[in-house]
Amino acid sequence: MGENGFFRPFWILCFTVFQMLLLLSSGGHCQAKLKAVASLFPLYEFAREVGGDHCEVTLLLPPGAEAHSWEPKPGDIAKISKADIFIYLGASMEPWVDKVLKATGGKEVRVVEASHGLQLLKAEPHEKEQGKKGHSHGHSHGEIFDPHIWLDFQLDLEIVEAIIKAFVEKDPVHKESYLKNAEAYQGRLKELDRRYRLSLADCRHRKLILGGHAAFAYLAKRYDLQQISLSGVSPNAEPTPKRMAEVIEVTRKAGIRHIFSEETVNKKLAQALAREAGVSVLLLSPGANLTREEAKEKVTFIDLMERNLTNLKKGLACGD
Ligand SMILES: [Zn+2]
Repeated sequence: MGENGFFRPFWILCFTVFQMLLLLSSGGHCQAKLKAVASLFPLYEFAREVGGDHCEVTLLLPPGAEAHSWEPKPGDIAKISKADIFIYLGASMEPWVDKVLKATGGKEVRVVEASHGLQLLKAEPHEKEQGKKGHSHGHSHGEIFDPHIWLDFQLDLEIVEAIIKAFVEKDPVHKESYLKNAEAYQGRLKELDRRYRLSLADCRHRKLILGGHAAFAYLAKRYDLQQISLSGVSPNAEPTPKRMAEVIEVTRKAGIRHIFSEETVNKKLAQALAREAGVSVLLLSPGANLTREEAKEKVTFIDLMERNLTNLKKGLACGD
């Protein structure tokens, strides 16, 4: 009896240590983390905020890449196929998605199409004719929808809801955490919307003249502004000389001092427009992706939208 009584606790200890080692070698907690992949920067931020500590979120777009024309490489497709959740926008923002999802077929990836079920705006008429130039795969019939829905913070609340649903489905154990994270972030989106509404309520000008592409229709609609842009919903399409002349004319007549331009796309055209109309250029980020500098500074989507609001207030002469 003596021997047994001594060795039993010893073996139990050995077994426990062995189990702990096994757990450590398998990565322990890390391996239980949910993996999500997002196509655009705002979707990446929403997923990262909802996921918190329980999820590892990857953004497909490298810093500085142009969101409309970017296409995935084999490595990106592998990332999607290994993910638990894949979030993309839809509404023709990622024309490569169908092919990629077919290629990764059979895997248990939960797919979230962020624009699904949302009230989408149609692309403005003048963009259709120009769209043909830039889009070899463009639809000559049917409607082209404007994909820039993330610039409507009310719609963003709904996108976050769709993301929560996917997270909870894939990882019900951390449901409370996801709900709590999402509520906090949705609170920040609501606050952003409130500040935009207040700040843009009383402006001398309501014409949002863009030297870039027509990315701000949802924002303009939400805050009662009028978007006038050089290019259509796709930044790849060059504006016609006729369109250029029209926008110069509108800018001169509006009596405004600033037009808006994106950091990367069509900057030269925006500068030419400003020169012709005798106005200056302010930056306005469509927010689909970060520039390299912004990525280095770890700028958030909310930061970008705050910066936009500062420039909108200046450019439209609000509250003075
Ligand atoms: Zn765009």
